[in-house]
Amino acid sequence: MTMADWSALPLGKRPAGRWALAARFVIADLPQGRRLIENGEVVIENDRIIWVGHRFEGDVAARYDMGEALIGPGFVDLDALSDLDTTVLAMDNQPGWKKGRVWPADYAAHACEMYTAEELAFQKRYAFAQLLLNGITSALPIASLFYRSWGETVAEFEAAASAADDLGLRVWLGPAYRTGGVILDEQGAMQPVFDEERGLAELAEAAAFAGRVHGTASGLISGMFAPDRVETCTEALLRKTFAHADEMDMPVRLHMAQGEMELQTLRRLQGVTAPHWLDNLGLLSTRLIAPHATVATEDDLARYAANGVTVAHCPLVSARHGSSLKSFSGLSAKGIRIGMGTDTAPPDMVLNMAVGLMANRIAEGSNTAGSAAEFYDAATLAGADALNRADLGRIAPGAKADIAVFDMADRMVAPRIDPIQTLVYGATSRVTRATIVDGRLSMRDGQVAGMDLNHARDQAQAQFNRLVARYPERTFGHPPVEEIFPPSYPSLQSEPSS
Ligand SMILES: [Zn+2]
Repeated sequence: MTMADWSALPLGKRPAGRWALAARFVIADLPQGRRLIENGEVVIENDRIIWVGHRFEGDVAARYDMGEALIGPGFVDLDALSDLDTTVLAMDNQPGWKKGRVWPADYAAHACEMYTAEELAFQKRYAFAQLLLNGITSALPIASLFYRSWGETVAEFEAAASAADDLGLRVWLGPAYRTGGVILDEQGAMQPVFDEERGLAELAEAAAFAGRVHGTASGLISGMFAPDRVETCTEALLRKTFAHADEMDMPVRLHMAQGEMELQTLRRLQGVTAPHWLDNLGLLSTRLIAPHATVATEDDLARYAANGVTVAHCPLVSARHGSSLKSFSGLSAKGIRIGMGTDTAPPDMVLNMAVGLMANRIAEGSNTAGSAAEFYDAATLAGADALNRADLGRIAPGAKADIAVFDMADRMVAPRIDPIQTLVYGATSRVTRATIVDGRLSMRDGQVAGMDLNHARDQAQAQFNRLVARYPERTFGHPPVEEIFPPSYPSLQSEPSS
């Protein structure tokens, strides 16, 4: 069997029969632990990896050589960006509550969907393609609710399920729902508001949807529960959520211990922090995936550790807000499982690993805390384990063929050292050459099957521009867009001529 050039791999399809993918570096998850193989190969049949090692002696229908590349497990993204990220607008434009990120009371009274159904469907499809470009093979989508009339809809998640099936991305789907929110009163003070009936009705729809999609698309799609951030949830909503999740054996993702608005609201309504409140309700469990834990206290973390909660760590979005997990090494030492998430644009898991590594070393005041391998394990093994999926996040016989291949001869990432360190310290997923999901080549060299990404990018920008134009409607005091999001430098043509 001669080596075929890997560009002959069929995009959007599973190669016929048993086939091998070879490269200079291959990650292997063996009974003795994770190992690096130089000049190795992975053998795939249908949706599964059947062998990993130096050279397979059995018959294969085709053998593709990736050359100077690293073959590893695809990333598991526990907080996967799934909209046209609006967080980025506020990075240099703070505070968020003055920039359309908290609804003023006069807007809340008639809050509307700022996107059409088609736009909501498109942005999920576009975001899924971006995840594939970044080597992400498993995704739990997250999107903002600020531009929504309330929660996410089943209709857009039906469309998301089709997109995942078409593009070949493994997803856990569940529309976000909530029984409450925080709004700004006329004085600009934050006030919690609730509509429990609405939230419970959304939960019932979300549960029906999760049950309906679970296991569809040949197992590519699973159900999950996604109550929005903890300060928007009432006790009844959380109790019913976990009751459904227990019954249906599905994960729950709930944002908590992540910010000031939450701390203030929880202190006022419950008198304790969110992790403490959920512990009192008996709802902390191994089922719970909790972004972002950046404001978690020692007491909160002890509760996470005692109950097997997984923290979804999204270092990029946290660092941009001037915060970080305190710390990755500290939580690991307590026995808390830490998975990774992208959460913001760009949905770049490698950049997240790099920022996470640096933030951890700064937090620890140590140049040895948290290796590149520890972050690589968090972005692969830990995420899969959080989902109770021992067949994901690893390259091992019997595991799903969910694989990401990274260029190790990229001119921008040189010189190469150890491949994992080269990848993480190189700090960009742009070196992703191929993404394989369920034995199918879903991305090759920046292309996904059935989608013209240049055209889609233009469409995404136009849609985003329309949304930005509508920011004044839901921004406190309704200032014009130029005032909400001023340019980094004064625009020249706006200055009076002298
Ligand atoms: Zn998040």
